Amino acid sequence: MPTAASLLREATRRLRAAGIEAARAEARLLLCRVTGWSRERLLAEPEAAVPEPEAARFRARLAEREARTPIAYLLGEREFWSLPLVVRPGVLIPRPETETLVQAALEAFPERAAALRLLDLGTGSGCLLVALLHEYPAAIGVGVDRSPEALAVAAVNLARHGLGARALLLCGDWGRALEGRFDLIVANPPYVARGELAGLEPEVARHEPRIALDGGPDGLEAYRALLPDVARLLAPGGVACLEIGRGQEGPLAALAAGHRLAASQRTDLAGIVRCLVLRRGSLG
Ligand code: GLN
Repeated sequence: MPTAASLLREATRRLRAAGIEAARAEARLLLCRVTGWSRERLLAEPEAAVPEPEAARFRARLAEREARTPIAYLLGEREFWSLPLVVRPGVLIPRPETETLVQAALEAFPERAAALRLLDLGTGSGCLLVALLHEYPAAIGVGVDRSPEALAVAAVNLARHGLGARALLLCGDWGRALEGRFDLIVANPPYVARGELAGLEPEVARHEPRIALDGGPDGLEAYRALLPDVARLLAPGGVACLEIGRGQEGPLAALAAGHRLAASQRTDLAGIVRCLVLRRGSLG
C-alpha cells in the first residue's frame, strides 16, 4: 500500500508538470477528500498507508486535475461569502469578485431586518441568492436560470443553508416570465466577449459552462437582454447590482441610461470596477 507521503510526492510532481501552481496544497486537498482524512491527520501521519482502492480513486482525480478540471469541481465545494456551497460541472464556480455585489447590496440596504424582495437573474450555483437571504433574514427571493442543472445545484445550496422556504427557483430567460416588483435585483450574467473565451485559463475555457461566460461578440449581449426586465421589475426605490467585466462600466452605463437607469460603480479587491449599481433615474 502506498503511504500518504508517497502519494503526495507523486501528485505534487504531476500537478506541477501540468502547470498548476498550488500543486502541493491541491494534492493535499484531493487526498483528504478521497480518504476522508483531516488535513491535521495527513500532516501528523504522513507515513500512514492509504488503502489501494482509495489510492486508485486519488490517482483518477489527479488525472482529471492534470486535464485542468477545476479543483472546485473535484472537491464538489467552494466557499462564497464564507458560506460553503456545492458546485458541480454545469454551474459557474463562485468567484471572490462576485462578493462585490453582496457588499454593494448591503450598502444600498443597510437595514438587515428589511423584508426585501430579491431577484437573482442567472442564479447559477445560487451563490448570490444564498448570501443575500442569509444576510437579510426577513427577505424572500426568486432565482432564475436558463439551465436546469444550475437550478438543481442552487436548490441544494439553498436547502443546505436552511433558506429554501424563502426562495423560489424558476427556469427561464432572465426576467421575461416575471411580474411584480423587486427591491433588489442582482445578476452575474455572462460577460466575456466571445473572441476572448478561448484565451481564458484552461479550467474556465474548457470546463466551466459556456452559457455562463459567453457574452456575445462584445460581451454585452446578456445586459441588452436583461436590462429591459430590470427596468420593468425594479420597485420604486429599488436597486440593481450587476456584475461586469473589466472596462464594461462605460458602455453598460450608457445602455442602462437608455432604460432610464442611473449607474454608480463599485470596485473589487483588485481595483477593477466590478459592479454597476443601478437606480431608476428621476424620470424613470
Ligand atoms: N469573472 C468570470 C471570468 O472571468 C466571468 C464570469 C461571467 O462571465 N459572469 O472567468
